[in-house]
Amino acid sequence: MRAIVVRRERHEPELIELPRPDPDEGEVLVRMLRVGIDGTDHEVLEDGPGSFPPGDDHLVLGHEAVGVVEDPNGTAYETGDVVVPTVRRRLDDGPNEYFDRGEPDMAPPGKHRECGISGAHGFMAEYVAVSERRLVEIPRRLAERGVFVEPISVSEKAIEHAYASRSPFDWSPQRALVLGNGALGLVTLAMLRQEFDDIYCLGRRDRPDPTIEVIERLGATYIDSRETPVPEIPEEHGGMDFIYEATGYAKHPFESIRALAPNGVVALLGIPDSWTFEIDGGSLHTELVTHNKALIGSVNSNERHFRRAVRTLRALPEWLFDELLTTVAAPTEFEPAFADSDDQIKAIVEFASL
Ligand code: NDP
Ligand code: ZN
Repeated sequence: MRAIVVRRERHEPELIELPRPDPDEGEVLVRMLRVGIDGTDHEVLEDGPGSFPPGDDHLVLGHEAVGVVEDPNGTAYETGDVVVPTVRRRLDDGPNEYFDRGEPDMAPPGKHRECGISGAHGFMAEYVAVSERRLVEIPRRLAERGVFVEPISVSEKAIEHAYASRSPFDWSPQRALVLGNGALGLVTLAMLRQEFDDIYCLGRRDRPDPTIEVIERLGATYIDSRETPVPEIPEEHGGMDFIYEATGYAKHPFESIRALAPNGVVALLGIPDSWTFEIDGGSLHTELVTHNKALIGSVNSNERHFRRAVRTLRALPEWLFDELLTTVAAPTEFEPAFADSDDQIKAIVEFASL
């Protein structure tokens, strides 16, 4: 079968032939339909995966996927069920408190592997074998948009954690700001649209630009960070009650403290490289304390967030996914899906259709 991989010491994706997997007991054989590509995949190619799966010098790419059950292999699934795999896996068969209680997303580095990212093969292949406990079923009519379940689940978790930090008091947020106009930022902006009347999205692009069109079609205000840096946002637009950071720009967490309204919260998602710079730590510390502000970090998501993401996917407007899905590539001509251009929002490799 065909699979798209990255090899040791290489930084380009490659199409190779691999044997079709033979599912173990408790595993389902899934025929892949579509696999999405995001910033994390580009980082895996650039820096190499955290680690290669034991015994292999290649890693099958891809962690945002939707497929169809080919062989339920004695599990509760049925042939033809449409499924989305979750991303984290145990390191070994030993006990793991995080996985044991259904919270693999809270396992720190060193306590998990991530399919297509570190230590475990991903889903960019014609077939994958996945434990039935690591699959979430989605309605057939959502199959074409199924690659968005994983990124939406990441935001479901981040929003849940941010809101939990504001739960002890009567918090009525009015204004939300998304930092970043990549696929994650835009899909999260659409999620926040369901709850907030007043939404904003930060980028650094000139018009015309397809992401700015999506931002405005969602009824949000586009903020160009070159004209209005994050600390100046309150003067222009008022303080933000909730900020969702999806730029990976390492100054944004600190700048966001200034952009928050009193009692607001920032959820940080970006994963930047090391960068040393100067900040006025004393003032920011005081600002956080005296205005009851919060900064939280959030990574990955668990099955519960995936299930919630399926409901969100159903509720979001169909046009959004037509606009976001800018590139659909065949496995034999996958190169455009890995190109990095401003015309591209979400790229996918399509292995099959229903
Ligand atoms: P992208 O790289 O596609 O999007 C990032 C966007 O932020 C780009 O559109 C970029 O603009 C914009 N941006 C970067 N710096 C600035 C700036 N200074 N001012 C304004 N805009 C800026 O990534 P994704 O959408 O896929 O992911 C977003 C981040 O979230 C990444 O850092 C990724 O690693 C992380 N991530 C984290 C996860 C988690 O579980 N915590 C899961 C998935 C992703 P431009 O394109 O014009 O350069
Ligand atoms: Zn992702």
